[in-house]
Amino acid sequence: MIKNVSADILIIGSGLAGCAAAYKAASAGKNVLVLEKMDYFGGNSNLAGGGYASSDSVLKYREKFNLEPDSWQLHAEDTFKAGGGIGDMALIETMAKGAPEGLNWLISCGVTFTDALNQIGGHSVHRAYMSDITGRQIMDKVHAAAEAAGAVFMNRCAVTGFLKENGRVTGVTAVRKMPEDGEGETEDEKLTIMASDRVIIASGGFSRDTALRQKYCPALTEDYGCSNHEGATGEVIRLAQQAGAAVTGMEYIQLYPCADPKSGGIDTCGFHAYTGAGYGMIYVNQKGERFVNELLGRDAVSDAQVQNCEKPTFAVFNQEIADILGLSGDEIERFTKVKRLYAADTLEGLAEAVNIPAGALRAAVDSHNAFVAGEKEDDFGKVRGTTFHLLKDGPFYAIPQWPTVHFTMGGLKIDTKARVLDGQGQPIPGLYAAGECCGGIHGKNRLGGNALAECVVFGFIAGECRR
Ligand SMILES: Cc1cc2nc3c(=O)[nH]c(=O)nc-3n(C[C@H](O)[C@H](O)[C@H](O)COP(=O)(O)OP(=O)(O)OC[C@H]3O[C@@H](n4cnc5c(N)ncnc54)[C@H](O)[C@@H]3O)c2cc1C
Repeated sequence: MIKNVSADILIIGSGLAGCAAAYKAASAGKNVLVLEKMDYFGGNSNLAGGGYASSDSVLKYREKFNLEPDSWQLHAEDTFKAGGGIGDMALIETMAKGAPEGLNWLISCGVTFTDALNQIGGHSVHRAYMSDITGRQIMDKVHAAAEAAGAVFMNRCAVTGFLKENGRVTGVTAVRKMPEDGEGETEDEKLTIMASDRVIIASGGFSRDTALRQKYCPALTEDYGCSNHEGATGEVIRLAQQAGAAVTGMEYIQLYPCADPKSGGIDTCGFHAYTGAGYGMIYVNQKGERFVNELLGRDAVSDAQVQNCEKPTFAVFNQEIADILGLSGDEIERFTKVKRLYAADTLEGLAEAVNIPAGALRAAVDSHNAFVAGEKEDDFGKVRGTTFHLLKDGPFYAIPQWPTVHFTMGGLKIDTKARVLDGQGQPIPGLYAAGECCGGIHGKNRLGGNALAECVVFGFIAGECRR
């Protein structure tokens, strides 16, 4: 038997984009239903390191730390440039302009941020606000805000198709899995869910969908690790295509350069290895040599590893940088025990611990220190930053790292009103999308912190019910 359900607004996916849309629509008095296929809510957003790129916020860190000026225009320019000049400038500007409002909303939901503004790879200025709570905790807060506004969430409910009438998307078909230990009904439930106002796709990216990613990027076989949650598969993108939606940029799939070489996951060490570049951390190969400008975009740093290095490479830093990053003594002890991080009082001791030539590591550090001190230009063209530190006093640390499949830049084609477009560039009535399921913003390569901004900005637009 097929059960019929209805709502004003139906949202597919309970990640950040879905929650932002649900909050906005429910706050406008709409009857909102969010469908989530997994038995947990929050998707990839649960795993996020909490970096959010924004040119401004109520925290006013730029003024507080006397940092260089920024603007939404510069944020948009950096995003376009990092994306290889192929991103959709109208979408990019919408994201950059809306990012501060989105960040302020997260803060109003109770998301807290560290007392620092970071410069991360590819951004020309310090612009990344870093949450000091986990992605899971961020999602608990925004999920609660959406529920408090009146949105209803249903898990274990996978969308299997779109319903259309006279060219308009009017709802979806779905299957709701019964819990294995559930009492009473055990058959999966088939649902037809109608949406009188709109359907919003917020189903995330497809990094875990090896078949789909290999369709566009044959080199990204199963041998690559993946940082995403299990549900990051692209069936909703495929179903939307069957309903007439166009896709863009599907071949652009981002590798994250600093993942755990063993699991392919991104843990605390992986986040620190990436963020630390803005404070003067260096990356070295197994010969103990630097091989890249650490502040380049993720694509360039990943490419440099895959093309020119043996697995793994190492992020090298000292106590001063560890303190800035907030890497605690307890964490250092925990990570060194499991060989996720190596520590030594001297550089030579560190080289021995990770089995790389001490002389080469010393030469790499000395040369980088001379650059940081203003005595020479960087060997890899890095621009000297005001927040760089000398790698002078120990203890010294090394984090092994290697690229992992991380983010899909491509996806559904949308316009600045978050309307899903068809092959002729026309909006499909009743169909909207937001978040990582969309393409067009990040071009060939996404800048760190831009995904969370994109989710909130376009989630808000999709959920905003002004016509
Ligand atoms: C480890 C990690 C760290 C990251 N760190 C950052 C960071 O610090 N800053 C940043 O900007 N970005 C970061 N990103 C990227 C960012 O987290 C994601 O791009 C973003 O959270 C995606 O949000 P979303 O709402 O679009 O999708 P998701 O959060 O993935 O939510 C989509 C939801 O849709 C559900 N779904 C899919 N198909 C169906 C279906 N058929 N039916 C019903 N539900 C379905 C999924 O199960 C999922 O729960 C990180 C990503 C990872 C993996």
